[in-house]
Amino acid sequence: MPLLFERIKDIRNHLGRLRCDEKASIGFVPTMGYLHEGHKALIKNSVLQNDVTVVSIYVNPAQFGPDEDYHRYPRDIDRDTAICEELGVDVLFAPTDREMYPEGFGTYVSVSGITEVLEGEFRPGHFRGVATVVLKLFNIVQPDRAYFGEKDYQQLKVVEKLVKDLNLPVQIVPVETVRDKDGLALSSRNVYLSDKERVSALSIYRAFQHAQRRTSEGERRADVLIREMEELIRSYPLVRKIDYLTITDPDLQPVEEVRDGDRILVALWVGDTRLIDNWRIKL
Ligand code: AMP
Repeated sequence: MPLLFERIKDIRNHLGRLRCDEKASIGFVPTMGYLHEGHKALIKNSVLQNDVTVVSIYVNPAQFGPDEDYHRYPRDIDRDTAICEELGVDVLFAPTDREMYPEGFGTYVSVSGITEVLEGEFRPGHFRGVATVVLKLFNIVQPDRAYFGEKDYQQLKVVEKLVKDLNLPVQIVPVETVRDKDGLALSSRNVYLSDKERVSALSIYRAFQHAQRRTSEGERRADVLIREMEELIRSYPLVRKIDYLTITDPDLQPVEEVRDGDRILVALWVGDTRLIDNWRIKL
């Protein structure tokens, strides 16, 4: 069984001992819980690469907008604990809101130059909440390595920038997106989808496959690829709104001509569920 901590001072003491007495390397996987195969891939990497693996489970209110799904976000700590045990996780950290944001809390981190676009444009304040909680968690856990999924590509870039700009002594390890057999990227939010909505959600992967095929055949114009993907996605009946659909270089700068390693990034609504995904173009 992983050791479960709810208090910052307790997990600090425990990890401090492991770090000093046993010279243990610490791998860290921050999550909002309701674990699936995507999270599991991060955890498996950490277990392989470190002496001790810490998983945090915390639905961070600071990264949700007022009209977002904070209250209905799925939670199941017992199931998550069982999954962590199965994978060999040593320490679980599941703090309360009071523990993370006690009365009088007032310091936030904003990472600029990268958070103004894409998710940042449609979810104002989201990355401020992410950067703040990630920095807090890094200060609490003090990991050697921390694992982040490419599924949230912009978030990964924001965390990398946070680490670089503030000289944090942690190595960020990106992990490729895990998909269901049909191509849908795994997400805790997929439980919101009805069977019919799930079919429309597959439009995302179909669009990626289409663009990948067209680029492999020689089409390099980003605007053409975007237009074709948009048409394909809109042909699915339950896609309500596309927040953005774009192609950028690996640093999130828009491109006109597609090159190897560029990213297609999309956020769209299927019914009341907002999905994000991205694809690395291989030439
Ligand atoms: P979340 O619990 O959604 O905040 O995600 C916690 C971590 O798991 C983040 O680094 C995510 O990018 C990562 N993650 C979520 N879904 C996937 C997936 N399908 N494949 C790989 N990593 C993922």
